[in-house]
Amino acid sequence: MNLEPTAAAPNSNLWFGTAMHYALEDYHGHNEFGKPMEALVHFPERWLEASDQPLPDDTYDLLELGDKMLKYYMLWDKQNGREYKTWWYEGEPQVEITFSIDMKTRRGRRFQYSGRFDRIVKDPMGALWIQDYKTAKRLPSKTYLQIDAQAGAYAWAARRIFGVHFEGVIFTHLLKQVAKGPKFKPGFVSVNKAQKTSGILYKKAMRRAFPDNIVPEKVLDFYNGLLEREDTYGDPFVNVTQVRKTPEALKNEEKKILLESGDMLNPRLVIYPNPTWTCVWDCPFMNACLEMDDGQDIDEILEAEFQVRPPRPEAWFKEEAFVWQDSH
Ligand code: SF4
Repeated sequence: MNLEPTAAAPNSNLWFGTAMHYALEDYHGHNEFGKPMEALVHFPERWLEASDQPLPDDTYDLLELGDKMLKYYMLWDKQNGREYKTWWYEGEPQVEITFSIDMKTRRGRRFQYSGRFDRIVKDPMGALWIQDYKTAKRLPSKTYLQIDAQAGAYAWAARRIFGVHFEGVIFTHLLKQVAKGPKFKPGFVSVNKAQKTSGILYKKAMRRAFPDNIVPEKVLDFYNGLLEREDTYGDPFVNVTQVRKTPEALKNEEKKILLESGDMLNPRLVIYPNPTWTCVWDCPFMNACLEMDDGQDIDEILEAEFQVRPPRPEAWFKEEAFVWQDSH
């Protein structure tokens, strides 16, 4: 039906995710703002220029949270992320890349497979990965991510567009939480087991509390315990999951995309609600969905509360961002 809510304000979660992507696009791309926090502050202005929706009611709170998350992300990136370099292709950093691939179903019906790569990076061995950022209230299961359809689909799309193998997807979760360091003062750092902190912040506190580098054993033990619980790819606030895909997996992914697209293009396909745990925060139709379950006529709700979705403004990302059109 291609509808969207006519509600005055956008969904805060989705708006926040877009704002954080805008900030990270600049930070890992041309870095015109110098710091991602500066880009974030600029985002509301870009939103108002590019969208016909106003700002969310809680814009100030969201920007405050985003500022703190990005400050922590910079610390994390300096320690853990530096070995992954943004891939530059034809003179442009590959960040927030919109793509669209012309395809045909097995029955010959044409369609376009579209998406957006948050960032393409090269690892120290020269292998290419797609990095995908998520802001989340809690970290997901790493096991689930191994089978997440987005990983295979994006690695397949990138290979198809650039003609080289992509290792897979690096999911980078930024927890929607303010990362806090331990309590400390000269000569003291808390070893309270109940505190939620990270090795990065604990080390900073140790340096300030013990500038002569003579650290009590129990403090060092606590620090080492934190490091043991963290892996090289993440901590409780920023966490990375690599999902590697073999060439065979990418071939199978293409088969799945074609089968799924065939279903989507089938006018006789019977569709029905498929509730998941994300409905609560990512589906604006939830009330209508519940009313429908109760046997109510939802035409009036749709007419009163929704409108036909206009084309999505791309302008809050760089105007010159590549749009790949692949028609092989
Ligand atoms: S709330 Fe209903 S319509 Fe929305 S995603 Fe969930 S099942 Fe689908």
